[in-house]
Amino acid sequence: MLSPARRLLLSRSVPFRPFSISAIRCSTDNPIPANDPNPKPAHSPVSSTNELATSSEGSFDKVLQESVAEGEKMRVMQAPNRKSIWSRSQQPREKAMVGPRFEQTIMEDQPRPYAAIDLIHKQPVRWTKAKRVSCDGGGGPLGHPRIFINVDKPQVCACTYCGLPFAQEHHREFLESQPYTPYPLAPQGDPAEVPESQSNTGRPLEQR
Ligand SMILES: [Zn+2]
Repeated sequence: MLSPARRLLLSRSVPFRPFSISAIRCSTDNPIPANDPNPKPAHSPVSSTNELATSSEGSFDKVLQESVAEGEKMRVMQAPNRKSIWSRSQQPREKAMVGPRFEQTIMEDQPRPYAAIDLIHKQPVRWTKAKRVSCDGGGGPLGHPRIFINVDKPQVCACTYCGLPFAQEHHREFLESQPYTPYPLAPQGDPAEVPESQSNTGRPLEQR
């Protein structure tokens, strides 16, 4: 049986732990280890708490709810219509959208613009009987300087500014016999299609 004074002394005693650097643990969401040959995958900020429906006070008048699988899919997809990056200067979203900034956010509400590199390949070929076409991308502030495109060759010729495809009627039969063309040869009824009158005015240079 310990005396009350001895018991008090024992309860107050703390095990001696010498201070050491290795005891300090820095934990961040996106640690960048120096020269680690087997880097750990970044921690996904998609939270399972978003599976619980909560009332929305935000800009969208609906219940805030998102499953982990859906959120993770939207976090990793580079664009709604593109899985991965299309330029070496881009940071993959799975690497960019990490850290406390994206903790417990609804991924559907994050900006996810469509990838223009895929949208332009939904524009149908503009057929012409001439050897040469001009493109100004629609004119005005959204257009580009007028350029002239030679469509003499049996191929789909894209505008180097905006990517709109042009081809000559003379080569239509040949192009239609091809198993694959980079652009659809006829309108497909896709909502991404831009009307021809809107995408290329065909008017001479105007005041901008
Ligand atoms: Zn153009």
